Amino acid sequence: MTTSPADVHREVARWRPRITPPVREIDADEFEQAAAAFLVALGVDLGDPKVVETPQRMAHAYTEMLTVPEFDMTTFPNAEGYDELVLVENIPVQSLCEHHMLPFVGVAHVGYLPGERILGLSKFARLVEFHARHPQTQERLTKRIADHLQQQLSPRGVGVVVEAEHTCMSLRGARVAGARTVTSALFGQLRDDPASRAEFLSLARPSRAVR
Ligand code: ZN
Repeated sequence: MTTSPADVHREVARWRPRITPPVREIDADEFEQAAAAFLVALGVDLGDPKVVETPQRMAHAYTEMLTVPEFDMTTFPNAEGYDELVLVENIPVQSLCEHHMLPFVGVAHVGYLPGERILGLSKFARLVEFHARHPQTQERLTKRIADHLQQQLSPRGVGVVVEAEHTCMSLRGARVAGARTVTSALFGQLRDDPASRAEFLSLARPSRAVR
């Protein structure tokens, strides 16, 4: 049986359904004006040459933190029929809490039980970064990474653990420096099968490499 271009297109479309990222346009000029007003409200003297360019730097910094990188989720046929857990640990996470617009920083452990397709190993970190660069909650970030894998890879199971320190909790409010928040999202066999679940959670256990 020959494969026509239309077949190839259908195959690609099947395995690369569009995930619409919640991308916003960042208006750097408007941000700069707002940052200047924000600093004035804090009593900062913008006539001081040391800080005169601070609004512009703030605009650059937030634009960088919130610009979503290009991401193409390359998958491959699972030609060897590999059916054990694939887990990538300690992927850096840098995001912003939507309640305070302060950073939360930590690591993600992302795993899945392959079905018909496998994911290129370099894509795990890209996937995390793709979802991290938004103002959000850690809970939503964790779920989005898991949903994305579930939708585009159709694996037998997906597990995502995120552990992070929230500066809105360590620098203000409760002021609990070093407190780590752990969230997880499990789908399929990694949620429903006790042995698979236990294996994933024992391997992706929080802070194993950090402490
Ligand atoms: Zn917060």
